[in-house]
Amino acid sequence: MILSDAQKKIQAEARDLSLKEIAPQAARVDKEGSFPLDGLNKLGAAGFLGLTVPQALGGRGADSVSFVLAIEAVARSCASTALVFLTHSLVTRALAVAGNDEQKQKLLPAMIAGEKLGALAVTEAASGSNSLAIATKAVADGDSFIVNGSKALITGAEQAQVYIIVLRTDRAQTPLDLSAIIMEKGTPNFSFGKKADFMGLCGASNGDLVFKNCQVPKTNLLGPENGYMQVGPAYASHSMLGMAAISLGIAQAAVDAATEHAKTRLNGEKPISSYQGIQFQIAEMTTSLAASRELTYSAAQQLDSQQPPSPLPLYMAKLNATEMAIDVANKALQVYGGTGYSRELPLERYYRDARGLTLHFSNSEKLKEMVGKMLLGLPPI
Ligand SMILES: Cc1cc2nc3c(=O)[nH]c(=O)nc-3n(C[C@H](O)[C@H](O)[C@H](O)COP(=O)(O)OP(=O)(O)OC[C@H]3O[C@@H](n4cnc5c(N)ncnc54)[C@H](O)[C@@H]3O)c2cc1C
Repeated sequence: MILSDAQKKIQAEARDLSLKEIAPQAARVDKEGSFPLDGLNKLGAAGFLGLTVPQALGGRGADSVSFVLAIEAVARSCASTALVFLTHSLVTRALAVAGNDEQKQKLLPAMIAGEKLGALAVTEAASGSNSLAIATKAVADGDSFIVNGSKALITGAEQAQVYIIVLRTDRAQTPLDLSAIIMEKGTPNFSFGKKADFMGLCGASNGDLVFKNCQVPKTNLLGPENGYMQVGPAYASHSMLGMAAISLGIAQAAVDAATEHAKTRLNGEKPISSYQGIQFQIAEMTTSLAASRELTYSAAQQLDSQQPPSPLPLYMAKLNATEMAIDVANKALQVYGGTGYSRELPLERYYRDARGLTLHFSNSEKLKEMVGKMLLGLPPI
């Protein structure tokens, strides 16, 4: 795809910032499992934390291709930072798309500045890819809801300040009747549970949220009551693009490392690049990455240009790019040989980080099911 000047500018800004401010922290963030607050603050200061929020609401009003370019650039340096950046962006997008004026005015300025981070809480211990099993409940009590339940594996669990919780109110009639509610850190009886000890994306600080009789004003409903299944996709579309973009960034970092190593690693007198087997690996990795990139960029472009946009290209881009990143990271490690397996180098981190992306925001199997049903003209549920 040929990028516009505005898109190229955002890409270059994100690359520069990531190389200078985020890449130097990536190994430490991974090893210590420390939350990449410094990198996120830098992204906030540079205006990236409200990238697609309309200018009228204080954001940069950038398009979805620019969003993909920015996430990809950050992920090339540090996938943990990119995942938190993505999650935060989904929350700001949700507020911009579905929030009322009061919610936007109250929350968006601080979130765009990076003073408050967002988290999106859908998953529960007994409700993963099947969100119809969500059991967290909000019972009406005068002007408030009393919320009880818990959420699992949430990105930025303890570090966020603004949470979008997907739950069921007492007026839900069918499994499809889900609602989204905004809960802020510090709400009495809102606490944190178990931390997820993930094998990769270690800086994203995933963990559980626990609600025991949490009182939340009814005005904190985000969008209509029982309306999450209708409104959610309008902002969740960026989750598919974002996960694909993180995959592109990780894969690019892996290809860069493998290509450089192939040229410089001597096996006797000759570099390993003289082996046809290595040439094939470099060719396959680079070709798969280029194909996934085109699919992702064009899905982002159609999201902004079609009315209403079809989710099919988004699903296909997420499915393809996340699987591609695992394959490319695996091949890059093979090109590197034994040193690539060492924790001193980032190759094993690329592999561990990529491995999480086929699980979150619809696993590959569910995506294949949804894509297959759409292509065959079958109902989604
Ligand atoms: C890095 C990371 C970050 C995350 N961050 C968040 C977050 O911020 N907020 C949040 O709410 N959640 C988050 N999650 C949770 C994530 O969204 C869930 O893991 C995901 O929804 C899948 O749910 P599950 O793990 O319970 O798998 P399950 O639903 O139990 O599925 C297990 C396996 O069953 C198979 N399967 C499931 N459905 C189908 C189907 N329809 N057809 C065929 N096979 C199927 C797949 O192989 C799947 O991997 C995160 C997870 C990860 C790994």
